[in-house]
Parts: sequence; structure tokens; C-alpha cells
Amino acid sequence: MNEKPIMDILGVPVTPFSMQEAVAWLMDRVQRNIPTQVVTANAEIIMMGQQDPAYLKLLQQADLVLPDGAGTVWAGRKLGYSVPERVAGYELFLEILKYAGRHGEKIFLFGAAPGIAESAAAKAREIAPGVRIVGTRNGYFKEEESASIVETINATGANILFAALGAPKQEYWLRDYGSRLQPALRIGLGGSFDVLAGKVERAPQWMQRASLEWLYRLLKQPSRIGRMMALPKFVIAVNKASHASRK
Ligand code: UDP
Repeated sequence: MNEKPIMDILGVPVTPFSMQEAVAWLMDRVQRNIPTQVVTANAEIIMMGQQDPAYLKLLQQADLVLPDGAGTVWAGRKLGYSVPERVAGYELFLEILKYAGRHGEKIFLFGAAPGIAESAAAKAREIAPGVRIVGTRNGYFKEEESASIVETINATGANILFAALGAPKQEYWLRDYGSRLQPALRIGLGGSFDVLAGKVERAPQWMQRASLEWLYRLLKQPSRIGRMMALPKFVIAVNKASHASRK
């Protein structure tokens, strides 16, 4: 795995890499062509693992789980670990695109509504000159189409696959087809293609700094309230775990 002490956040093994460390570790895996499934875990994802043992197992078997979201960073620190910073899926996406622009990695964008991955690819070429986006595929498909999607991805020769199907769908898909996929690096990215394509806005910087991105997303998409009820439950569960670890 990796050299960093891995945190145990409610049974989920999260590595407290900084963004720079995460990119360096992942690009080394790409150079060595080692299959690597990455989850950027926010509080909602960690709570999904508490409710679904199969998803918890998947998170435990992923090659790297990164601390996405203010909630995960807070939890790690509360549990006594040193966490340098949040490594959000969207920022990781941008960093890898820029790296790929400099080093010639081949990227496939899989996910989001029809047309979005293509718009995201066009934006990617603006922010990461020289980046090779070798293929795109929208994220709406029937299960029986999965095998041909895998073939489409493999035929492009991509070595980095970004899957933006939302959690937990993207994690299950990447795991289930993991042994057939050729891109070494596979990362689930939630709504990141929508953000890069300009369809969904990211919270303003001050809100991100004040750990209020969740509030911004809730105000923009009130239908997320059901999912967000996981957040107070997460705080309670982490507090309980931190008391238990002190006993
Ligand atoms: N999506 C998809 N296929 C599906 C369901 C969703 O490609 O079957 C896409 C959706 O269009 C959106 C992303 O997955 O771009 C989910 O975004 P969200 O912000 O909800 O991600 P999450 O918070 O779940 O990581």
C-alpha cells in the first residue's frame, strides 16, 4: 500500500496524503501500470459504508481512500491523526489533468449526462494544454452495456479512467469491472464533470475555507437534504468512536 499511517475512520481506511503526495503516489502507480482504484471519501460516503456492509468492504479493499470533504478531515483530526489537508475529488481531477498535460498520459472520461463529458474534455484542454483526452462516454447505460463500455475504454489505450457516476455507483462499477479494465488508474469523481463543464458551480472559496461547501450544495440542490441527514449522524458516530478510543 503506502508508507503513510492509514487512519481508521469508522472502519474506512483513509490515507492522510496532501494533494501533492496523493498525485505523486498515484502517478508512480500509473508509471508502473499497477491497477489502482481510488475513492475520495466524504462524510456521506463513509456513512454509506456504515449502512451497507458490501460498500464498507469495497472501501476497505480500495487501493487508496483520500480525505475528501471538511467532515472527513475533521473526523481524522478528532480521532487523533494528523491530516494535512482535504483532497477533494474535483481538485484531484484538475491536478491530474495538469500532470497528464505535461507527461502525456491518456485519459478517458466516463460519466454524467450526454454531452457533459465532452464539454468537460474541452475545458480540460483549456486548463491543461496538451492533455490527451482519448475518449468519453456518458454515464447513463443499462447494466448489459457495461462489457462494451469496458471494451470502448480499453480500445482507446487510456491509462487513467475518471468515472463520474455518483457514489456508490461509480465505486461498484470500477470494482466490478476492475479486472477487465486496462487503465491503471481508476478514480470515482461524483459530479466533477458537471463542475468542469460549467453545469454546476462549486461553492465560493470563502465557503470552502469555512468548511461550508455542504451548505452551498444544499442551497443549490435542496433535494440533497435526505442524503445530507448522514452528516449529523457522522458527527455523532465519530464523537462516539473518539471517546471509545480514549478509554
Ligand atoms: N450520474 C451518471 N449516471 C448515473 C447517475 C448519475 O453518470 O446513473 C452522474 C450525474 O449525471 C452526475 C454525477 O453522476 O454528473 C453525480 O453527481 P453528484 O454530485 O450527485 O455526485 P456525488 O455527490 O454522488 O458524488
